[in-house]
Amino acid sequence: MNAHPSEAITGAIKRATRILVLTHIHPDGDALGSQLGLGTILRGLDKEVFLYGEAAVSSLYEFLPGSQEISEGLPDLSAFDCAISLDCGDAYRLGRKMEELLTVKPFIVIDHHAGHQDFGDLRWVDPHRASSGELVYDLAVALGAEVSQAAAYCLYAAIVADTGSFKYSSTSADTFRVARELILKGVNPAEVAGKLFDNFSRARLRLFLRVLASLQLHADGRIALITAPNKLFGETGAAPEDTEGFINYPRALSCVQVAVFLKEAEAGIVSASMRSKGSDLNVAKVAMAFGGGGHRNAAGFKIGDTTIEKLSAELLPALQTLLV
Ligand code: 5GP
Ligand code: MN
Repeated sequence: MNAHPSEAITGAIKRATRILVLTHIHPDGDALGSQLGLGTILRGLDKEVFLYGEAAVSSLYEFLPGSQEISEGLPDLSAFDCAISLDCGDAYRLGRKMEELLTVKPFIVIDHHAGHQDFGDLRWVDPHRASSGELVYDLAVALGAEVSQAAAYCLYAAIVADTGSFKYSSTSADTFRVARELILKGVNPAEVAGKLFDNFSRARLRLFLRVLASLQLHADGRIALITAPNKLFGETGAAPEDTEGFINYPRALSCVQVAVFLKEAEAGIVSASMRSKGSDLNVAKVAMAFGGGGHRNAAGFKIGDTTIEKLSAELLPALQTLLV
């Protein structure tokens, strides 16, 4: 666990001329904010930067400066002399092009997931840090790089997104130190919070009402389950990525210790988002048992060829064992 990136990492970045910057599939605010922020920082160092994403950026994050520069097509990878993966805890979450992407050398991995599975050539993984945005800021400092207002905006959004507005247990003095530096660079916290949280379309609100109405409480109210079957998206006109943040509402019930959201974004494929409270309830362990991963208090996985009913029948008992 290093508080700073190694000289091997900063040296490799300084020597590189064409850098591929990546993050995980279905990127959240931390993933995209970190990717876009680092892209801008590296361009400020006169690097040629290519931002790759397997799918189009969710409309929820289009407000991030530079979001339209993330490209879904892969260029000739032999032209790169460095790749940097951000916020990705497991190589398979690089997506369908994982094997090709990993051919870029050196492949640098910067991440903060507790259950991080090593991949790549040079790694800076610190699970004590609340967001990858925080790490990218400290990388910029170690590189002696300028952090422009646009980059600061992306990194600040990354931090707010991954700490639930500085609420989660991962929030530390380092989080506030970096947030302060970013605000001093011109970020307006109220504006970022508005873009991240006061951003519902009418379709998204329709979906939200239906998903909340699915609430079930188990284990004397200690486990909350909400669900979004595939047909709900057609019925409400909302997109699967519009469910971002819904899990926080069952989690907000005072009696709830573990909240689960099962979403069928594509027919027969169900993803699970889990949240827990406190240091004794490790949902990452359960996620890993189902082939996923994440952090102690926020983890997930995805399973094909199943239904919400089938998966909840397997998952609820596994979560109950955490409570005893
Ligand atoms: P969310 O519930 O917001 O989708 O994800 C919560 C945390 O779990 C995130 O840190 C994310 O990286 C991790 N996570 C979610 N889904 C998966 C998955 O399918 N595999 C792995 N390894 N981690 C996941
Ligand atoms: Mn993150």
